[in-house]
Amino acid sequence: ADCARIQRVTVLGATGSIGKSTLDVIARHPQRYRLHALTAYRSRETLRDQCLVHRPDVAVLGEERDAAWLRDALAEAGIDTQVRAGEAALSEVAGSADSEVVMAAIMGAAGLMPTLAAVRAGKRVLLANKEALVMSGALFMEAVERHGAVLLPIDSEHNAIYQCLPTEHRGGLARQGVTQLLLTASGGPFRDWSQTQLKAVTPEQACAHPNWSMGRKISVDSATLMNKGLELIEACWLFDARPEQIQVVVHPQSVVHSMAAYSDGSVIAQLGNPDMRTPIAYGLAWPERIDAGVAPLDLFQVARLDFEAPDEARFPCLRLAREAMAAGGTAPATLNAANEVAVEAFLDARLGFADIPRLVAAVCEACEVHSAHELSAVLAADEAARREAERQLTRFAS
Ligand code: NAD
Ligand code: MG
Repeated sequence: ADCARIQRVTVLGATGSIGKSTLDVIARHPQRYRLHALTAYRSRETLRDQCLVHRPDVAVLGEERDAAWLRDALAEAGIDTQVRAGEAALSEVAGSADSEVVMAAIMGAAGLMPTLAAVRAGKRVLLANKEALVMSGALFMEAVERHGAVLLPIDSEHNAIYQCLPTEHRGGLARQGVTQLLLTASGGPFRDWSQTQLKAVTPEQACAHPNWSMGRKISVDSATLMNKGLELIEACWLFDARPEQIQVVVHPQSVVHSMAAYSDGSVIAQLGNPDMRTPIAYGLAWPERIDAGVAPLDLFQVARLDFEAPDEARFPCLRLAREAMAAGGTAPATLNAANEVAVEAFLDARLGFADIPRLVAAVCEACEVHSAHELSAVLAADEAARREAERQLTRFAS
């Protein structure tokens, strides 16, 4: 192996669903990648097991108490991984000169600061943490530009669109002859459910996605279609698109991962089995291609591809996201924070499934929209929305 080509990788959120898939792909290519750092929040046992296998230089946990436990466990096993704790350490490791590639796979707003640290250090950033971009889109894309970071979308739809667009797609879609981005959605596990049925959805039902296995928060977002709403905002920033240029297409088989339509009538799609290792491998190796461990697509087994329009009456989150993007400024950060509080409350059985969009709508209405050109304004909007959501929760609790 050519040592000069070995890329050192940091995985933020290593113990999550995306993190584990990333380690799986990396382990298939020891001649190309070496793990520099692994981070997690509370899952110290999983992080210990990962350190035993991958022997990273650095590991980071949320709390010093857990870090001390991990230090002992690794010392006992004779592994000299340096163990750190807390938010400052997390951002420091994300921006450290000791790695070239950062996988941003922390869940939710907690990923914003470390992901931005990686961007500001000019890394190749593999972006799974869509909430970070939704919250701070303008700032984030500006930082990518200014610091020469290479931003590769890992969200399967955005990765698909990235693959369907010309290599040089910044500066407006129209210049490339692209007329529309077609963002596919599985429709979630309750695609055919009536409004009455939706009221009784339990956390267990919402977390059992038919096509993808994912973390609990994004599973609930997929079930409410808020995930597609966040992805719509994500696509606007990544591809310099206006919301009207993006059409959401419900496609229950989750085989077509998204498409780009061109002015000559051509529609280019990216297809594959629903397995996140494909976009992860794409991001790691781009512009090359590597084995991801994903089974080849068997079209005869898929047999048919269905497409239908989303029903925004039963799934209002999509409309709420569109409205937040149109409002601009801190509105998407408010939407995201309200949704994070609502989803957590739903998972704790403190809020009904159908009340998630109602709570988000109420918070978006109550919170003022400010300019989002300063990071402090984004963080303040996030905090204010969380406070308002908690306040409204007591009204919704019945
Ligand atoms: P997950 O819940 O399985 O894992 C989350 C990871 O983030 C864990 O390692 C956890 O320890 C860490 N984390 C959580 N809170 C933290 C905090 N406060 N500080 C530091 N670390 C923290 O989530 P996931 O399904 O892997 O999703 C991760 C991100 O990727 C999300 O933004 C999600 O929207 C996005 N994404 C996931 C998928 C998927 O298939 N799972 C697909 C597309 C996009
Ligand atoms: Mg997605």
